[in-house]
Amino acid sequence: MVIIVGAGLSGLLTAYRLKKAGIPVKVLEGRDRIGGRIYTKITKDESPVEMGATWFRPEHTNLISLLRELNLPFSEQHLKGTAYFQALSTAPAESISIPPQGPSYRIAGGTTSIISKLSSLLSPEELEIGEMVSKVELNENTLRVTAGRIIECEKIVIALPPKLGINLIEFNPNLPQNLIQIAQNTHTWMEDSIKVALTFPKPFWREDGKSGALFSNVGPVTEFYDHCNTEETKYALCGFVNNEYALLSFDDRKNKILNQLNEIYGQEVLEYIDYQESVWADENLTSFPSDQPLFPHQNNGNPIFNRSFFEGRVFFSNTETSSVHGGYMEGAVHAANSVSKKLITL
Ligand SMILES: Cc1cc2nc3c(=O)[nH]c(=O)nc-3n(C[C@H](O)[C@H](O)[C@H](O)COP(=O)(O)OP(=O)(O)OC[C@H]3O[C@@H](n4cnc5c(N)ncnc54)[C@H](O)[C@@H]3O)c2cc1C
Repeated sequence: MVIIVGAGLSGLLTAYRLKKAGIPVKVLEGRDRIGGRIYTKITKDESPVEMGATWFRPEHTNLISLLRELNLPFSEQHLKGTAYFQALSTAPAESISIPPQGPSYRIAGGTTSIISKLSSLLSPEELEIGEMVSKVELNENTLRVTAGRIIECEKIVIALPPKLGINLIEFNPNLPQNLIQIAQNTHTWMEDSIKVALTFPKPFWREDGKSGALFSNVGPVTEFYDHCNTEETKYALCGFVNNEYALLSFDDRKNKILNQLNEIYGQEVLEYIDYQESVWADENLTSFPSDQPLFPHQNNGNPIFNRSFFEGRVFFSNTETSSVHGGYMEGAVHAANSVSKKLITL
């Protein structure tokens, strides 16, 4: 059996590929939900809003092939019309035209559709949640894996950000020093970001040729986009808040966000139905402190992650180990395709 640690996109896809090839699998997920950095919340007016991964582009070909394989439709991000640009706190936001940049897409029903689909292809014995893996030991020819209980397996795929993998899991014998050093200095994409979404009774921002997009140098919101569902029956705005606002209380942050949005979109923004946010720095199964500041994507796809450890039994494979588009959903799919191919042909 192969144990896969983590039920994010990379872990679930690896499990699905191995199962399809006839290899017994078990996914152990530490959270009480699956999806990891894919996290679609359903608001009280039943609108799917993205607290994590949202967009992909035509060059994300592995992800697009997977969506086609799983029959999951996607649609273009609404960007038609002008955007607001807030350059200075002392001047009102300007209306600007967004330069053409090629389409970006969102998955119909929310990004979580890909997670629901992959998990539906695994049995309850093959996917367990609330199972935080804390130890991996080599015991003669098998691995002993400590989660809520001890489970034995032949091989293990650590489908988490490498920095988390080496800090949350104790390995016996120790992993090589060079792997530990590189993993400790491998950036985890978006681990300290903040996402916020608001839903509304109608898409009032679409009036007068506006797209609803906002770009701000001032904050707290730095980027905001139209986030209506594919069918255009649910109306929302969603985007990023400056990471430093993680230091504020929920109420302080929300007030500052609403003040800024009110200034830009006007009074109607205060008539929102639901407000949702996620502060990823507070998520200890995504975010882990670094010894020194890391630059975005630092060490993503480092060749050391191509190697296996414990005599071909331990593999590190998630988006941050991917040699292409590390950090993005595309990287997660690429990593899962690569490690499963390796395990199937071994
Ligand atoms: C706010 C935000 C916005 C983003 N926007 C985009 C975007 O627009 N487009 C895009 O392509 N990508 C985006 N991303 C990145 C995208 O979410 C990731 O590339 C992708 O989801 C990573 O999948 P993964 O399986 O490799 O890792 P993760 O999703 O991190 O999965 C790891 C899993 O392992 C679990 N876990 C951790 N430790 C343990 C343990 N010890 N035992 C058991 N389980 C454990 C975690 O709970 C998690 O479920 C965004 C991410 C965030 C946070």
